[in-house]
Amino acid sequence: MTDEQRVALVTGATRGIGAAIAERLAADGYSVVGTATSAAGAATVAERLGEGRGIELRIDDDESVTGGLEHIASAFGAPSIVVNNAGINRDNLLMRMSAEQWSSVIDTNLSGLYRVVKPLLRSMMRARWGRIISVSSVVGRMGNAGQVNYAASKAGIEGFSRALALEVGSRGITVNAVAPGFIETDMTDELNEEMRAAMIEKIALARMGTGAEVAHAVAFLASEGAGYITGETLQVNGGIYQN
Ligand code: NAP
Repeated sequence: MTDEQRVALVTGATRGIGAAIAERLAADGYSVVGTATSAAGAATVAERLGEGRGIELRIDDDESVTGGLEHIASAFGAPSIVVNNAGINRDNLLMRMSAEQWSSVIDTNLSGLYRVVKPLLRSMMRARWGRIISVSSVVGRMGNAGQVNYAASKAGIEGFSRALALEVGSRGITVNAVAPGFIETDMTDELNEEMRAAMIEKIALARMGTGAEVAHAVAFLASEGAGYITGETLQVNGGIYQN
């Protein structure tokens, strides 16, 4: 870390993986700000990270992103680390998938990345240092029936990261993704016992992962020591899929 404390922005920090990432980066000494989609969620984030550090910001809404980022920059300074964690799923077989299920997932998971990352680039370029880390999913590579929208958004995140890595590498900015497998959170709580057991059977480590384990990978990519890794996707999936 430099003498100046780095500002790290974590989207979707209310619960699950995002909460674990925010807590881990705060423990590592960064000045962490986390986002939520509601005032109540922002208050929950602030309880963990400190007063004012929970911000209402919807990544599927241009104005909300612009306003949220302006507020963060004036209150804490421009983030030099951004963890694009917020994401949703709206599962259905393609045959039955509505246009709304398709577009809400793409607009949140993939276009949300465009909305958040683009305005943060200028200050990172000026500082000649930055870390852009996005939470993808093993499903982006492995595929999963009932998740064409989600898989497309996550594969898109990895392509976005590889391309942006080439654009900004000469300015000291790294762009990477972390692809979790099957992690214990609200998102996976939706699965029934039978689906859960079937999934665990496919995992080499024979268990679900934890948010803390994903956070550890994110913290590594955010660190000074990971400065020569860019355009990469780090799989944190317990060996459910190797590629
Ligand atoms: P989660 O428990 O469902 O939490 C989702 C987070 O995203 C919440 O903080 C939520 O905020 C926020 N969010 C949702 N829509 C948003 C929007 N439009 N704008 C801003 N924030 C929004 O999810 P999770 O399981 O921790 O997953 C976190 C990330 O990991 C996602 O990108 C997910 O795709 C990915 N992932 C998860 C797993 C897994 O097994 N759980 C596996 C692979 C990848 P509110 O609380 O305010 O709604």
